[in-house]
Amino acid sequence: MRVSRSPRQIRKELKAIRVLGKRIAFVPTMGALHEGHLGLVRRARREGDLVVVSIFVNPAQFGPKEDFRRYPRNPAADRALLKRERVDLLFNPNVSDIYPAGFDTYVLPGKIADRLEGAFRPTHFRGVATVVLKLLNIVQPDVALFGRKDLQQSLVIEKMVSDLGLPVRIVVAPTVRDRDGLALSSRNAYLTKLGRKKALVISASLLAARQMIRDGERSATRIRNYIERRLLREAEAEVDYVSVAERSTLCELQKISGQVAISVACRIERVRLIDNLTLKV
Ligand code: AMP
Repeated sequence: MRVSRSPRQIRKELKAIRVLGKRIAFVPTMGALHEGHLGLVRRARREGDLVVVSIFVNPAQFGPKEDFRRYPRNPAADRALLKRERVDLLFNPNVSDIYPAGFDTYVLPGKIADRLEGAFRPTHFRGVATVVLKLLNIVQPDVALFGRKDLQQSLVIEKMVSDLGLPVRIVVAPTVRDRDGLALSSRNAYLTKLGRKKALVISASLLAARQMIRDGERSATRIRNYIERRLLREAEAEVDYVSVAERSTLCELQKISGQVAISVACRIERVRLIDNLTLKV
């Protein structure tokens, strides 16, 4: 596995690869890698001839009171995992490689970014879209892979790619969970044993809600209330939102029908966790 911090070096290496007619598959991450990331890497291997992974904790997507400084960083373990997955190229730039002094241009995503996460993290998707555009510009992959765990993020990126006419195919891969249902996340590392146990209520209540809908429940309000009550009672969570929305726009539903996304964001032991399930009614 080749490793480089330099955008210029990455561009140069990939240009030579592209000339050979090889397809480049790209997985952007913030590191602290887990099986969710590795699932994307394995899928990338199927989508392309050459797999590029980036590790960059992007300051622009963290709010001023968020965990940018203490976000988990495990560079040595990450490298070992990526080597084992036979990743071809690791791009791990410094902040100044991506945001040189005087950097002052951002991508402003539209309505899709205002809801759910956007309502609680006002500059988050601006930071995400900006860094993803920069990374896509540097790597220029044929395919870029993202996780459905961050459903709204994948929608923001798909919209940016389509609106700005970027020549890349976006693949969104299913959420990888621990055996007990907890969606894998780098932030799970912040949880105590007890907190992790409490966090199981997130996936459990999402699954139960999906079953209620499959069994005929059509009131979005009743589903939201059901999930919120369980999060409060069983996990003493601080709930940011429980959403029952149209899957592609994330507009809240009253009566449940069509393609639906049920999404949750809450804090357990001050750790902010998100998860979602989708279904077709
Ligand atoms: P992050 O390092 O958290 O920015 O995530 C990098 C990529 O991995 C994003 O596309 C995430 O959606 C994806 N990802 C993170 N956790 C999971 C998971 N549990 N299952 C599938 N994809 C994930």
